[in-house]
Amino acid sequence: MGGTWYWNRYPGARFDSESWTYGYSFSEEILREWEWSEHFAAQPETLRYCNFVADKLDLRRDIEFNRRIRTVTYDEAAHQWDVESEDGRRARARFLITAIGPLSAPTMPSIPGVETFRGESYHTGTWPHEPVGFANKRVAVIGTGATGVQAITEIAKTVGHLTVFQRTPNWCAPLHNRPIDAATQARIKATYPETFAICRESFGCFIHQADPRNALEVSPEEREALFEKLYGEPGFGIWMGNFRDVLIDREANATITEFMRGKIRQRVKDPALAEKLIPTNHGFGTRRVPLESGYYEVFNQSNVRLVDVRETPIERITPAGVKTSEGEHEVDMIIYATGFDAITGAFDRIDVRGRGGRRLRDKWAEGPRTYLGLQIEGFPNLFTLVGPHNAATFCNIPRCIEQNVDWVTALIAHMRESGHVRVEATREAEAEWTQHVHDTGRRMLFTQVDSWMMGINSNVTGKQKRTFIVYAGGAPKYRERCDEVAARGYPGLSFG
Ligand code: NAP
Repeated sequence: MGGTWYWNRYPGARFDSESWTYGYSFSEEILREWEWSEHFAAQPETLRYCNFVADKLDLRRDIEFNRRIRTVTYDEAAHQWDVESEDGRRARARFLITAIGPLSAPTMPSIPGVETFRGESYHTGTWPHEPVGFANKRVAVIGTGATGVQAITEIAKTVGHLTVFQRTPNWCAPLHNRPIDAATQARIKATYPETFAICRESFGCFIHQADPRNALEVSPEEREALFEKLYGEPGFGIWMGNFRDVLIDREANATITEFMRGKIRQRVKDPALAEKLIPTNHGFGTRRVPLESGYYEVFNQSNVRLVDVRETPIERITPAGVKTSEGEHEVDMIIYATGFDAITGAFDRIDVRGRGGRRLRDKWAEGPRTYLGLQIEGFPNLFTLVGPHNAATFCNIPRCIEQNVDWVTALIAHMRESGHVRVEATREAEAEWTQHVHDTGRRMLFTQVDSWMMGINSNVTGKQKRTFIVYAGGAPKYRERCDEVAARGYPGLSFG
């Protein structure tokens, strides 16, 4: 139970969204009874929340755990999906709804020798359930994305010696987490409708709304004042609540990038080390911003070493540690914070067969094609929650999942009422939406940078070319379009 919050139990794992904006909104009872202890809850609390919801709604009786799905095949004659798990068990259903997660297929680095290492080794996305200790141990962490940044900061508190292998530094911003006191708890509970209404209208359904001004329209002093204010505030404000042009306009982006550069230089004592931690190949906010709680100060510790693997590439993992072009780093533990085969990866790991035995993997070989990120031509009665091209891929995710679920539920109800047994996106509607996703994405600076948001994964064959896999038009526009399609009787879908 718990999906991402079940698997990602690595040290330091916690929300980057405000806890009270993240929970389900559909049950007043759950909203009333559940109390978040911190503004950004840690993983164990979120997992408890998932279990609490499952028990409250009596969901366990409808869930079969430990059934990894191997193939799903559309039976054209019966208008049904055949689902087969790895252990050979089968199920059939009219509708197939995938909720397989955008960041659920962990990837190990394609470095030779990984299997030869004699010490302990873990991927953050499949962290063990037993406690893992770091005291008196020499630990290596490979990867400095949002996961690596959280894990490194926590591990550094107790580790014997830590070596961080960094390939691309990211622009990290302070999380500013704190406990929720009784008065704040009462206010949170009394204002859930207002909170969800604000989230609904913001780009990624976070509580932070973009400043309506352009960065280049205001004086340098005013600009600096907003940056400083946002840097001192909790959460994604500095990313999502910044001037409205900083993620679109290069010159505007350069102003916040320069500000962030200054912050890293202030926080890291050794100037040469600070330069290594400063990204040089992308501007602030053009990759997912890791939120941190003392990350940069970790590198002021005498027992922490940063290895820039662009300068000294990793050649192989050895039985004793990590060998770079500079020499061998002997360690007792290697932690792979090397990320996921994002968004399409979980689909690729299942053999999905649509009409005429067509394989989804082949259809998406040059990048995904979808209608509204929820339907695929050639694959009737299949709905892809948080799938590629869906606004939920760039979102405070439960907020967008609820929208996806409501839309699919209404469509299924519509089919029941009208006696339809088959629904499928038309080729034209799919082409139009896919083009729209590409056109919208091109306006954003992040599409000019390599990251999982552009389908890049150096460790997966065939995922080295940038591909539009997320929808960058924002959740409100996406919802408007979905609502309009429903209100007009579902143009773009053919029914049978
Ligand atoms: P990631 O952002 O893809 O980062 C993977 C890291 O591993 C990168 O630093 C990457 O370097 C490095 N790496 C991969 N292969 C490597 C290799 N062969 N050699 C050296 N370095 C290698 O993955 P992630 O940190 O797990 O985060 C994924 C996403 O999960 C986040 O962006 C976020 O959306 C989500 N997440 C959310 C939370 C939260 O909400 N609290 C927390 C953690 C993660 P390059 O950059 O050079 O490729």
